[in-house]
Amino acid sequence: MDLSNLTIAEARRALDAREYSALDLTNAYLESIAEKDIDIHAYLEVWADAARAEARAADAMIAAGTSQPLTGIPIAIKDNILIEGRVASSASHILEHYTASYDATAIAKLKAQGAVFLGRTNMDEFAMGSSTENSAFGPTKNPHDTARIPGGSSGGSAAAVAACMALAALGSDTGGSIRQPAAHTGLVGLKPTYGAVSRFGLMPMGSSLDQIGPLARTVGDARILFDVLKGNDPKDSTSLPDTEAQSPTPKTVGVPRDFLAEGVDADVLQMFEAALDTLRAAGYAVRDISMPHLPHSLAVYYIVCPAEVSTNLARYDGIRYGLSVPADSIGEVYTKTRGAGFGPEVRRRILLGTFVLSSGYADAYYRKARAVRDVIRNDFARAFESVDAIALPTTASPAFKFGEKSDPLAMYAEDIFSVPANLAGVPAISVPSGTVEREGKKLPVGFQLIGAHGSEETLFKIGEQVEKA
Ligand code: GLN
Repeated sequence: MDLSNLTIAEARRALDAREYSALDLTNAYLESIAEKDIDIHAYLEVWADAARAEARAADAMIAAGTSQPLTGIPIAIKDNILIEGRVASSASHILEHYTASYDATAIAKLKAQGAVFLGRTNMDEFAMGSSTENSAFGPTKNPHDTARIPGGSSGGSAAAVAACMALAALGSDTGGSIRQPAAHTGLVGLKPTYGAVSRFGLMPMGSSLDQIGPLARTVGDARILFDVLKGNDPKDSTSLPDTEAQSPTPKTVGVPRDFLAEGVDADVLQMFEAALDTLRAAGYAVRDISMPHLPHSLAVYYIVCPAEVSTNLARYDGIRYGLSVPADSIGEVYTKTRGAGFGPEVRRRILLGTFVLSSGYADAYYRKARAVRDVIRNDFARAFESVDAIALPTTASPAFKFGEKSDPLAMYAEDIFSVPANLAGVPAISVPSGTVEREGKKLPVGFQLIGAHGSEETLFKIGEQVEKA
């Protein structure tokens, strides 16, 4: 079976036409994992036997004529999304042996479709990072060049799909963790509108920023997954009500030209311009727009996100979940467990977050950042009065080498073009738009489209044009 060009749409057709069974398909992916993952390390755990059982159940659904879009489709799941009875570690030692006691809503929806769960994928610890180097269990390699990172924090999910070790994957995106790895591995990655997909059962990082979303080979596949994942969930108080999606044909794309001056590699910028030309040729008006406050996004994100991290991660205290280091007093249990269980980046964020929230500093940092976040949201609201979508490169450079961004600030700068969408809560997609060459290797580049709240279908329509080129 040739997995290299397979899509969910094509697998659905072939499965329903009985050209192969869901078990054949799952076995093909399990073989691919057995062959390649020793080198790539996309998975923290593979559930081969359970996946085969799920594939057999999917075959029964297909035989009964009750197949749904994802019946028998082999999917990989980021290690911060809960599956009942499975370890979910967020690639952290503190949760290394933690077993989830319930399904995330996103997982329940995939299960209801009869999807096949191949395994849980590697990530930056608690989703903090842009390279998967912050995993407590070793990094994942980029299948396009194994000397390079696959992006992060959903790097395992991206590498699994890019190396044909899963047909699609779920990731989470707090400041770019779906889009950036998608860009670095040649995939489509969607961060949905905040509240469009339930966060119930997603381990929280920055609760006002987090969304679960798909990593897939095509825009069409991302749409299929999003259609299954979305929808109101009473278990998530920030879940949006279900509404009929309106999607008039998009016509105008805006480019915040001044923001690109933040620094983009010349050849990456060229690929960005080429994608804009494709859109012009397809009849879109492409126009420069002004979003003067976007350059503050990174500073705002690296205050708001650590602040939320510091409160969200307070629950890992050695009592409630996972690792517990014995000590004489309860205070010592907390400090010893957290000291032993959390890696350096997680500790850095907790310290930063605790600092910006502390009395005496909250006005200067946290509350100021919240105010600037509103100003950035207004930039988006104003832009969407005149354009259907905003285009930006997903990243300023292609995938970098292991160890290249050991300075945390250099790593944070990687998120410059992805964090604005999370701050504003708007949907954003990264679509592959060609490659650039580094040291004789062709490395994928991503074209990012950001839409108004609830405009995923607009992003899919425009993204399909870019994809066709
Ligand atoms: N790279 C960003 C960070 O480290 C985004 C992470 C994410 O989206 N989960 O915070």
